[in-house]
Amino acid sequence: MPTTEPALSESGRELVREVLIHGPIARAELGRRLGLSPASLTRLSKPFLDSGLFVEGAVEFAGAVGRPAKPLDVQADLQRFVGVKLTGDQAFGVLTDLRAKALGEHVADLAGRSPEEVVEALVAVVRELTASSHGGGVAGLEGLAGVGVSIGGKVTGQRTVLRATFLAWREVDLGGMLAERLGVPVVVENDVVALTEAERWFGLGRGVDDFAVVTVGAGVGYGLVVHGRQVITPDTGLGLGGHVPLDPTGPICVDGHRGCSTAMLSTTSMCASAAVGLGRRVAYDELLALAASGDPVAVQVVGTAGRSLGRMVAAVANLTMVGTVVLSGEGVGLVDVPVAATELRAGIAADRDPDASEVRVLTGAADFGAWARGAAAVAVQARIGALGALGA
Ligand SMILES: [Zn+2]
Repeated sequence: MPTTEPALSESGRELVREVLIHGPIARAELGRRLGLSPASLTRLSKPFLDSGLFVEGAVEFAGAVGRPAKPLDVQADLQRFVGVKLTGDQAFGVLTDLRAKALGEHVADLAGRSPEEVVEALVAVVRELTASSHGGGVAGLEGLAGVGVSIGGKVTGQRTVLRATFLAWREVDLGGMLAERLGVPVVVENDVVALTEAERWFGLGRGVDDFAVVTVGAGVGYGLVVHGRQVITPDTGLGLGGHVPLDPTGPICVDGHRGCSTAMLSTTSMCASAAVGLGRRVAYDELLALAASGDPVAVQVVGTAGRSLGRMVAAVANLTMVGTVVLSGEGVGLVDVPVAATELRAGIAADRDPDASEVRVLTGAADFGAWARGAAAVAVQARIGALGALGA
């Protein structure tokens, strides 16, 4: 590990951010993005190359007459982060590199839902994930650059949970409590905000200025990025996108809405709908498999969900005018089922003007770890923004 830590100017921070997000990136392209001359770029990059944060890729020739140049990239392995997604029962953690790529995962059950019991579970997850070096790096908390925790609730200052109904919490200084226990920087963020940031920096939204995120899972989440920045308001974290009316004939959500996005698309609601017709309980993965194999009950439930998701995508695109919608969350495997994919397209087409541009729908991996990687992504961002130095 390099020991020198280059002092970071604002331009140095921007450079690190651009190379982290877009690397490996040609120097000419990097200079264009940052408005820097080749000489300035060389001067600004030098301390990061010296510290080992930046590495040079193989020489690229920009056409027959282009001058050879080595693209820049970050040494993503240089630092380790832990991201943890909290549910009502578990702390689901991942160890990641600088690009929030998962290197290992560990899940701990919560002994209870008090802040102390939750912190205990979080500490256990972080300690387990950092117990070994995971192929390089320093084992233990000393080798850890930061921890991110994401939670389905309203968070302020990336530290205090103002409201998390699934834990019956109000005003809990989760970030402060955890940082005191671990002695490393901790950020706490709303789970959909964090997942959207992960898509913006390291995922399907990379390089896309305007896009929305719709998550499907235990609930339905919604995030929006406009002009390269996520839209955050005082109501962020209340989960308002989870109760968009989509089908007047649909089932009812916990808030009593008929056919809202949660009632139509949450995995629990879909399984409950299917259980009525099947005459037995069914797990979500089995429901999708049944739909794929043509079971009439499952086809109906999954197809209807696909249609509703299409309506949601169309509403998002119509009202916010973004051209790209990223679908994510542990329940997004829905769109791999042919009947849901067909209905998704039909739902979008029905609610879009035929002359409107086609909405680009991108689908992320249907695994729960995406939430935890989101938490790690905001820890990475905080590391760059707050400390301003990644070379350590
Ligand atoms: Zn609702």
